[in-house]
Amino acid sequence: MKPRIVVLGGGFGGVYTALALEKALASRDDYEIVLVSKENYFVFQPMLPEVISGTIGLTDVVSPLRRLLRRTEIHVREVESIDLQRQVVITSPGFKPHAHEIPYDHLVLALGTVTDFRGLPGLPEHAMPFKNLGDALALRSHLIRALAEAAIEDDDPELRRQLLTFAVAGGGFSGVEVVAELNDFVRSVAPSYHGIDPRDIRVILLHATERILPEVAPSLALFAQDILTKRGVEVRLQTRLQAATGTEAVLASGERIPTRTLVSTVPSSPHPLIDALALPKGRNGRLLTSGRLAVDGTQNVWAVGDCAQIALPDGSLAPPTAQHATRQASVVAHNIVAALRGGTTRTFEFKGLGKMGALGHHSAVAEILGAKVSGFLAWWLWRTIYLMKMPGWGRRLKIATSWTLDLFLPPDLVNLSLGSSQGVTREHFEPGQDVFREGDLGDRLYIILSGDVQITRRGAEGESTLARLGAGQCFGEMALVNMTRRNATVRCLSSLDLLSLPKKEFAVLAANLPDLRRSFERLAGERAQQPTASRA
Ligand SMILES: Cc1cc2nc3c(=O)[nH]c(=O)nc-3n(C[C@H](O)[C@H](O)[C@H](O)COP(=O)(O)OP(=O)(O)OC[C@H]3O[C@@H](n4cnc5c(N)ncnc54)[C@H](O)[C@@H]3O)c2cc1C
Repeated sequence: MKPRIVVLGGGFGGVYTALALEKALASRDDYEIVLVSKENYFVFQPMLPEVISGTIGLTDVVSPLRRLLRRTEIHVREVESIDLQRQVVITSPGFKPHAHEIPYDHLVLALGTVTDFRGLPGLPEHAMPFKNLGDALALRSHLIRALAEAAIEDDDPELRRQLLTFAVAGGGFSGVEVVAELNDFVRSVAPSYHGIDPRDIRVILLHATERILPEVAPSLALFAQDILTKRGVEVRLQTRLQAATGTEAVLASGERIPTRTLVSTVPSSPHPLIDALALPKGRNGRLLTSGRLAVDGTQNVWAVGDCAQIALPDGSLAPPTAQHATRQASVVAHNIVAALRGGTTRTFEFKGLGKMGALGHHSAVAEILGAKVSGFLAWWLWRTIYLMKMPGWGRRLKIATSWTLDLFLPPDLVNLSLGSSQGVTREHFEPGQDVFREGDLGDRLYIILSGDVQITRRGAEGESTLARLGAGQCFGEMALVNMTRRNATVRCLSSLDLLSLPKKEFAVLAANLPDLRRSFERLAGERAQQPTASRA
């Protein structure tokens, strides 16, 4: 049996490790390479923000793994667990629900990090992350939908204001690149929507410390801030996002920004699979990894990329960037081959060539080999360097063509509306907010997970309270069962978490589960009889 090297993760760390292992295999055939990734493509994250505006084709930032890795066995599966004792990786079932185990002789951990909004009320439910292709496509679709809705929303100025306000939290590289692209996109397409006055559009960048882009020199950060401000972005420094609801971004100061679009690029958290491993961890739960890139205390478990904490010879830590992950990949491949065939090992010593961030509209900031560059030259460098780094000539050609066409053609406004039904979702509300109001259309059933609501109704003598409901109780069934509008207002009394089921899904359940339908009809009937009961 040939020794098997199993690489977990199809990002910069994993794919470049497999590429380097394939290269080292050359004409020999003395080991097997297996790569496990939950997607069948590699995402070139530095260009991901351009997907928002459609400056490049929607799938141009991804490359199919099978085209990149010709000699690697690819498993497009989710890794469920890693058994270090038995030296096996367990992946999710495919078409058949049986456990799938992949034994390894050497294991390379390149699982990156995950976005984790826990601890910030309402963010898991209402903030949009920005890390992978799905996030970028979802944001783009959402922006197009928000503009389309704002254009025809004549009778509710509050909702219109929410729809035309776009907030991004986090002023690091990804937050700045996202807000720049988002701002360019919504402002450039607004004239296509006759009902929108471009002056009503607000784009806000929220950043917790006193300057954006802490990764670069203060002069470049100031340049970026000026450019964004000139283009209409409100840069709010020393402003911490504390919570979110479906209609507001709630700041630590107590201020509430009405918005239906909140993107958060908060720092990432450790991957749960890495967290679960009984291996030494360092800062932020990253695996403590030696300069050889073997995880401390192991001989055949290696780590690269964002999930690894790698000390450089000068004592500093390798930052979590693509340029570091790709260099770590070639070192780890070399050292694994040395372990299998014999030979000297290498130590990871790469210090980084620089940092670059695009600001949209032919502008960027860059620090390259110690030189600070900003404006058009930095933008040109950004495009040239990243285009050459994109794996595969086919993709490079497509991107170069998209960039050229973008100079002459208006931005694309197609909304693919992928995955229109969301099923049961969670929603978060802050005290004082209305979940729905009397007269609204009945579109959902709600189940209270935590918190309290008050049901009120308008009458000749003003608003009167009909009931109070708490955890474990539901509301909203009356309008669904009776096919009517809401006949009461539901107001949140404390921080409220709900499960919400759309009308369409409720109808399918009610049609196929007679007992469930009857119990909701009974509840609606009882509440209609009792003046003190919920009539929502
Ligand atoms: C928007 C954005 C812009 C960026 N811009 C730059 C830039 O300009 N320059 C730069 O140097 N860096 C940039 N970065 C950072 C850079 O992308 C990361 O440092 C790099 O991707 C880290 O590589 P990685 O392999 O460790 O992790 P990732 O690239 O995140 O790869 C992790 C892989 O693991 C897979 N995976 C995760 N869980 C499982 C599971 N359970 N089962 C199977 N597979 C799984 C994922 O699908 C993914 O393929 C940017 C990041 C973002 C989000």
